[in-house]
Amino acid sequence: MTLKIALSFALAIFALAARAEKIALINGTLINPGTSQIVQNATIVILRDGRIVIGGAKIAAAGDTKTVSMLKDAHVIDCKGKFILPGYIDTHIHFFQSGDLFTRPDVVDLNSVRPYKDEVAWIKSHLDDTFTRYLRSGITAVVDVGGPFWNFEVRRTANTDVQLTISGLAQGSVVTAKAPRVAVAGPLISSVSRPQLDLGDPPIVKIDTPERAREFVRKLAAQNPDLVKIWYIVDKDHPVDSFRPIVRATSEESHAHKIRVAVHATELETARAAVEEGADILVHSVIDKPVDDAFVKLLKNRHIILCPTLVVFERYGRTFSHELNLTPEEKAWGNPEVIASLDVTKIPQNKLPDRIKNALAKPDEALDRIKKTYDVALPNLKTLEDAGVTIAAGTDAGNIGTIHGPALFREFQLMKEAGLTPMQILQCATANAAKLFGGETGAHIGKIENGYLADLVILKSNPLDDIAHASDIDTVIKNGVVYPANSILH
Ligand SMILES: [Zn+2]
Repeated sequence: MTLKIALSFALAIFALAARAEKIALINGTLINPGTSQIVQNATIVILRDGRIVIGGAKIAAAGDTKTVSMLKDAHVIDCKGKFILPGYIDTHIHFFQSGDLFTRPDVVDLNSVRPYKDEVAWIKSHLDDTFTRYLRSGITAVVDVGGPFWNFEVRRTANTDVQLTISGLAQGSVVTAKAPRVAVAGPLISSVSRPQLDLGDPPIVKIDTPERAREFVRKLAAQNPDLVKIWYIVDKDHPVDSFRPIVRATSEESHAHKIRVAVHATELETARAAVEEGADILVHSVIDKPVDDAFVKLLKNRHIILCPTLVVFERYGRTFSHELNLTPEEKAWGNPEVIASLDVTKIPQNKLPDRIKNALAKPDEALDRIKKTYDVALPNLKTLEDAGVTIAAGTDAGNIGTIHGPALFREFQLMKEAGLTPMQILQCATANAAKLFGGETGAHIGKIENGYLADLVILKSNPLDDIAHASDIDTVIKNGVVYPANSILH
């Protein structure tokens, strides 16, 4: 992404950014899920001081009416009857994947229909579009849990505040990209290779020895990643124990550079091994068997954050069997080209990979496998939540059928099915997710409090009555810039 594109974002929203020095939200109901705090008739004042270049707009005051003097000279937005929350955070996405049918040739090779290099070119040229679909969904921060080295450029583009000094515009005005805040991991350190994804800057790198793991972490550390990600894939040729030394070496070297380690581990024994060898974050649910007491205790003692990514477990199978259950939010706010591609019946029969052919022939088997996964994953989530393990909401968006942006609302539905309350779900998507985001930014998002960054979502109905209202979005505020929800995708 070039500076030119970053500037075009900036110019597109400049008028809004420059409208007022100060914004005051009054009369709304403030909900801080991290502390279960609810404030009726709240006043929230957002400062937009041009001197703040990195930190951006701060919430200067939140609470009841003590801040009346703060309202002077402010651009006042009446939020009567509305509900104000911290912006949502999706802690598991991949910008190198579009969510369309061609985005994982290692899973279903459709190069004969659409070459993978064309797919990647499309993804790179549509990053601005992807960013706006997150904002439309009220998502003001995302964690990209692994991709090629160009991920670091995506982070730079999304997070760079542009200081405009162009003639006609106020000198030194600070404008932010029309994008969520982005934290990233670089390429995944993997137990298996995926040559189909390698176009010269592979997202997945097979590492065979502890020495190579340390060397690769040092290469990553030079890019200042927010996380190092391990892809701990286990099968009969890759048993759990054979990869343990690499997980340990990766963790030790990452921790020496003060970088946290996130691990993909979907079986109970793999996840246990990952944590024992130094993982800080588990990026999926355990889906093969119920978690046991020792595992729960291990996660609690080590302060592990777990991101369940429930939605992704249904979307490959449902896409391939032509049983896709996209929500109204996904249909409305997902990229239409991505969604159109997911109709597998449009692919010529002679070009269909066996995996899709088989799923189309026996859709009931695909749905049954998904049900079996949820029969384990949902109770596991409830067990971990009840035990007080920190759960961060995330979708794995970008994988086939998991739509960048609105997939988070399907994740909320599944968290509800697991038995979480609306407040718990919202806590997972705000305060807990901010912990996974990490760093200085992570310490200043996910709550509406003095000194925090002004990333907010304003809802038209109460999400505590029904989590489905979480998508009833009126306005999104990112870094103090106000976006009426209906204007974001236009
Ligand atoms: Zn992932």
